[in-house]
Amino acid sequence: MNRLIWFRNDLRLIDNPALHHCLDDKTTGTDDAPVSALFILCQEYIDTHPIGAKRLRFMQEALLNLAQGLAKQGIELRTEYVEKKADIAQRVVDVCSHVGARVVFCNREYPLDERRRDQDCKALCEEQGITFNAYHDRCLIPPGALKTQAGDHYKVFTPFARAWRKLADASQFQIYSAPKRKIQAVAAPSDTINRLFSRAGADCQPVLWQADEHSALDALQDFIEQHLADYDEERDYPALQATSKLSPYLSVGLLSPKQCYIACRHAVGVSENVGAHTWINELIWREFYMHIAAIYPKVSMHRPLQAYTECIPWRQNETDFQRWCQGETGIPIIDAAMRQLNQTGWMHNRLRMIVAMFLSKNLLIDWRKGEAYFMSQLIDGDFSANNGGWQWSASTGTDAAPYFRIMNPLTQSERYDPQGHFIRQWLPELAAVKGKNIHKPGPINGYPAPMVDVKATRKEAIAVFKACKEQYAKESHEH
Ligand SMILES: Cc1cc2nc3c(=O)[nH]c(=O)nc-3n(C[C@H](O)[C@H](O)[C@H](O)COP(=O)(O)OP(=O)(O)OC[C@H]3O[C@@H](n4cnc5c(N)ncnc54)[C@H](O)[C@@H]3O)c2cc1C
Repeated sequence: MNRLIWFRNDLRLIDNPALHHCLDDKTTGTDDAPVSALFILCQEYIDTHPIGAKRLRFMQEALLNLAQGLAKQGIELRTEYVEKKADIAQRVVDVCSHVGARVVFCNREYPLDERRRDQDCKALCEEQGITFNAYHDRCLIPPGALKTQAGDHYKVFTPFARAWRKLADASQFQIYSAPKRKIQAVAAPSDTINRLFSRAGADCQPVLWQADEHSALDALQDFIEQHLADYDEERDYPALQATSKLSPYLSVGLLSPKQCYIACRHAVGVSENVGAHTWINELIWREFYMHIAAIYPKVSMHRPLQAYTECIPWRQNETDFQRWCQGETGIPIIDAAMRQLNQTGWMHNRLRMIVAMFLSKNLLIDWRKGEAYFMSQLIDGDFSANNGGWQWSASTGTDAAPYFRIMNPLTQSERYDPQGHFIRQWLPELAAVKGKNIHKPGPINGYPAPMVDVKATRKEAIAVFKACKEQYAKESHEH
């Protein structure tokens, strides 16, 4: 009897729970019993989430490498294309019947669309007598496992992180090794994968990240050896190579968070240094937002967590929005960051916060437009982290920055890019600007004047948020 392993955002052989259990499943035959692998690309999902051309290209390369790794284990990867999300369940069942599989293995995903997809698949599979086994993989601690003393889910990061560390410390995490089957290799379906992704709109240019799991592990090791110790001090400076840049790997699952956590703990031992402590905190932010997405489905429905912010009268100004997207705001740190995003598909965390606050506060443009634009450009686009980051910056989310604490992009620029190295790298038209003028050059060499006065727009945004909050409190009181 055959079994089917269905890959989604877990494109690796090492430490893949679903793959491990699929190959280890004694109920359906011997260790070397036939196994088929599946990957489905859904056009509606690509269009609505949205998954941009750069991320598609990264996924394409990751899948080509995965297919080769699987082929060496005698497992053929089938790639399928469907137009609609509603077609996915039937396609899984059709593939099972084609390859003669009676059990499907996959790793769980937590945002609403993905959970609905898996519920539909499980129901249809079970109707056809096919077992559907889903495993926990996307984060270290499963959503729902952490509760306050009162039995509620955490909505604030600091106590969540404390509880997370306590449970993680007490857990015995184990890495699943790469499969080693004594079986004849098959061919890898490289042409089919390439055709599938070009049909879906993948970029023609390769991305900057080497999309295979060994490169991901090398990058993890390199970061731990070279940068972890200084991470706490240097991570906020975008001109430095101070952060891990592992987010693309984590987002398509070329690397698991467990591999990151264990490698870090292994390197520093129990007496965690401050660099390791801060880096693990960032991994916990990733987990926190994943738990939020799993527990509060409304964030997956374009809704803010803070109810009063539903009434913010966002400005409808497509010209201003486009200036922000293209990096033409006249504020160098914002423009350099947006050009880094548009060209590479990645942006430094501090800059993500600065540009997101600028859009949602100084320009008072709906954060959901920025959230979608980020997803269309990011290689590491991840629903939970992106939504969490945007809701934090726009003060609409759980544990969000209070609405009156608005970062001033000019002050941030002077503090975190003091010499202007980052700005000059991405804005060549400002190369000749000397000294501190780099942060506020005014119109020069085709570069525009700032599109808004950041101090005045900050005050206006605070007034708008304050009025909405008061109005909401008044109405709630009256009802
Ligand atoms: C508006 C906004 C949008 C964002 N969108 C995404 C996104 O789509 N995908 C994404 O992976 N991250 C997102 N982030 C979080 C963060 O900016 C990136 O994870 C980080 O910049 C990746 O760089 P790194 O791998 O060098 O991180 P490191 O500093 O080395 O951190 C290690 C890992 O921890 C996780 N992490 C770090 N910071 C955060 C954070 N604040 N929230 C959640 N996870 C974090 C990432 O997986 C990261 O790879 C967003 C942040 C903001 C403010």
